Amino acid sequence: MNIFEQRESNVRSYCRSFPALFHRAKGSFIYSESEEAYIDFLAGAGALNYGHNNDYIKQKVISYLQADAIAHGLDLHTSAKEEFLCKFSETVLYPKNLDYRVQFCGPTGTNAVEAALKLARKVKNRPGIFSFMGAYHGMTLGSLSISGNRDIKHGAYGTSSNVTFMPYPYGFMESFDTIEFIESVLNDVNSGIEKPAAIIFETVQAEGGVIVAPIEWMQKLRTLCDKHDILLICDDIQVGCGRTGPFFSFERANIVPDMVVLSKSIGGYGFPMSLLLFKPELDIWEPGEHNGTFRGNQLAFVGGTAALEYRETTNLEQEVKIKESFLQKFLVDKIASISETIKIRGIGLIWGIDIGDANLAKKITSRCFELGLIVEKTGRNNTVIKILPALTIEISTLEKGCFIIKEAFDECFS
Ligand code: PMP
Repeated sequence: MNIFEQRESNVRSYCRSFPALFHRAKGSFIYSESEEAYIDFLAGAGALNYGHNNDYIKQKVISYLQADAIAHGLDLHTSAKEEFLCKFSETVLYPKNLDYRVQFCGPTGTNAVEAALKLARKVKNRPGIFSFMGAYHGMTLGSLSISGNRDIKHGAYGTSSNVTFMPYPYGFMESFDTIEFIESVLNDVNSGIEKPAAIIFETVQAEGGVIVAPIEWMQKLRTLCDKHDILLICDDIQVGCGRTGPFFSFERANIVPDMVVLSKSIGGYGFPMSLLLFKPELDIWEPGEHNGTFRGNQLAFVGGTAALEYRETTNLEQEVKIKESFLQKFLVDKIASISETIKIRGIGLIWGIDIGDANLAKKITSRCFELGLIVEKTGRNNTVIKILPALTIEISTLEKGCFIIKEAFDECFS
């Protein structure tokens, strides 16, 4: 028995899908201690949009460390935070005409989701939140309360009070006007459901099975929130930071959410950081009202600033488009053609192969691992294979990984 099985909690998960001892990584490759190379189609679950050990970002981080600059800074004003805020304003917010306040939350995505729920409830003085079926927002109790997966919501946790799940445009709901349904719930004095403080949504439900919201749906959601004085919160933790092409995933719908939650790749190098962005008039926090020791990850500020610089010097948005076209064509032509039960969904560099069978999905991803590819399952009952490479992946590596998937499909479907 190894030390992990002997000592680490049973709660560990990714390591069960990918049983190797990992040691080093570069770009879109990760290597085991025995120097086996794996193509990485998981990219730190979306935290490594710029690849492993991106050289540009790495140099900035090394210089920072070598200068004995501030390593831990609570929420003090530091030069690293100043540079990050300036760069984020100059390269992201101003050009997109977005006027958001930035709140630095605890290090992980769920910390920012918690802050969003708390602030929305305070601003509107209403306890209710509408979330969507299939949503995933994190594992702390508030985030769990607005997540759909019943398997992770043990009844005894007592979560989900004041939360109402609305249908997302997916499955048979695709032919149903879900926004009109929400509208009728809000207008019906006998609906039994109070007007919420906020509606939180993902533009692509990644953990829900890579379900892409239609542009018109997002626009109608924005209009509905305006009409009923409800805050619109976009959880862009997994599909923000360029994953769908533009920096924010909601840009494609030309809408402006009242609040945006960002994490995963915002720290650039896989360093933990989470941000809550909100319109200035919502900034009714008292100083210190939402606090935390680790809200100032200086290395993440340095990594985040370097990542934004890297974005300026490369043409990542265009690159994502090119790789998106390749992936879509490959998956439709070479994978969907294997069986009519297979469905392909995705946008940018997040794609799902829905095979509707958990055992088969597990068999395929295990075979991919044997063949040198890390690719994870997601969605209802883990029946969807999720392709989430670094945005910087070379097209030849993307192609190689795709052919491994095809080989595994061919074997498992024969
Ligand atoms: N929201 C979304 C959309 C996510 O994908 C995730 C992480 N998978 C989270 C929230 C939670 O982030 P974290 O795991 O960093 O708490």
